[in-house]
Amino acid sequence: MLHLYNSLTKKVEDFEPIHKGEVGMYACGPTVYGFTHIGHGIKYVHDDVLRRVLEVLEELKVTHVQNVTDVGHLTSDADSGEDKMEKGAAKMGKTVWEVAEEFTEYFNKVMEQLNVLPPTVVCKATEHIPEQIALIERILANGYGYDTPEAVYFDVTKFADYGKMFNQSFDERTVGAREEVETGEHKKHPADFVLWFKRVGRFANHVMHWESPWGDGFPGWHIECSAMSMKYLGEQFDIHTGGEDHLSIHHPNEIAQSEAATGKKPFVKYWMHTAFLMVDGKKMSKSLGNLYKLTDLAEKGFSPLALRYYFLTTHYRKQMNFTWEGLNGAKTALTKLNKMVVDLTDIPVTADGWSAEGGEYYKKFVEAMEDDLNTSSALSIVWEMMKSEISDEAKKNLIVVMDSVLGLNLGTEEEKNMGVPEDIKEILTRREEFRKAKNWEQSDALRKEIEDRGYRVEDYAEGAKVEKI
Ligand code: AMP
Ligand code: ZN
Repeated sequence: MLHLYNSLTKKVEDFEPIHKGEVGMYACGPTVYGFTHIGHGIKYVHDDVLRRVLEVLEELKVTHVQNVTDVGHLTSDADSGEDKMEKGAAKMGKTVWEVAEEFTEYFNKVMEQLNVLPPTVVCKATEHIPEQIALIERILANGYGYDTPEAVYFDVTKFADYGKMFNQSFDERTVGAREEVETGEHKKHPADFVLWFKRVGRFANHVMHWESPWGDGFPGWHIECSAMSMKYLGEQFDIHTGGEDHLSIHHPNEIAQSEAATGKKPFVKYWMHTAFLMVDGKKMSKSLGNLYKLTDLAEKGFSPLALRYYFLTTHYRKQMNFTWEGLNGAKTALTKLNKMVVDLTDIPVTADGWSAEGGEYYKKFVEAMEDDLNTSSALSIVWEMMKSEISDEAKKNLIVVMDSVLGLNLGTEEEKNMGVPEDIKEILTRREEFRKAKNWEQSDALRKEIEDRGYRVEDYAEGAKVEKI
């Protein structure tokens, strides 16, 4: 049975879905005002492993909903500061809509490279304004909010559990919200948060705005997740994920809004939070220049899947510290593992190919994953199995199943060129096209170009392979 740590109860619990055979899972998506970095990577890779465990090992039908925050998220999660989208747009000399589109696309590409399965539903905040307005109306009708000249607020004093959620003291939360007092002059309690911003005062020129029963304006950040998760998953659902930064403000606010509107508890049965990724022992930040992107890794010869392997070596609730040496270790391990799987290329995958000999390894692998997604232990079992004396047929069949959970694309064509810089791969792809068209002159010219950059090309029936000279 699957056991998951629930941040709401602070306990590892048996996982029992609300509806038999199905799981509703909501993941807080990116705020699309800047480049997706490896900190985002770790969170969504762990979400992806969770989803694959549910689908492959638990055989459940998963509806995975993820939002795109393209409005309402201010530089502080507690409603103070500037609008992140507008800040991004001003810096880039573009419209907020262009910025949103560009970074959403960038995010999707990064996810694809990390082999993260696309969510079942991707929903944009700006495309769900009526749903957010309707939810605010329900909250107000139930007496949990109030209207002021600058905004509509959620009244935390009306929600009895507000100070207890996730075992965060009320004080911790009000500290986060304190700075807002200056801006929200009609706010009754420092922890009250915005449901609807009016287009007045500091937001008089806010670019994204809509009509509402409370006047022209835009939604607060938290309401989008309540409105969209409930729209696609129902008023109560199974799993909600996010980075650990959401424990203090965003997720308590989501719970308060949703339960205030529906009167149903719990809004979500299991809450899961990924620990924040650190870089060289420090928090990631623009000023430290350590908000690494996949392209920064590619420049040093690291593939996105080496990063994925690296993430899996640490449990999702344990703080991981990214270092280049660590990533290099992961790359070496993955290259070796991949080579072992490539060597099994000709072994067929059969319906029950591993059960006789490999049953023990399969059992241990499942146990590790069912133990609150112990990916590092699952990886050790993969190695143990690959180095064991069981037949190649059993190995091949086991690794295929295990990899459908780990998502490392082991033994695939692309991974034959793992660790090769993206620009070399790009030349290789162009060369393949010339080869297909039998344009030998051009393909030889590109071979030379690759060699000049320090890589040797070897042609195989199933595609070319490059190796560092
Ligand atoms: P954002 O784009 O900042 O709204 O973040 C999108 C998701 O990525 C949220 O669930 C964040 O908690 C998570 N996230 C952002 N930075 C990190 C990091 N350094 N480590 C882990 N998760 C992160
Ligand atoms: Zn959210």
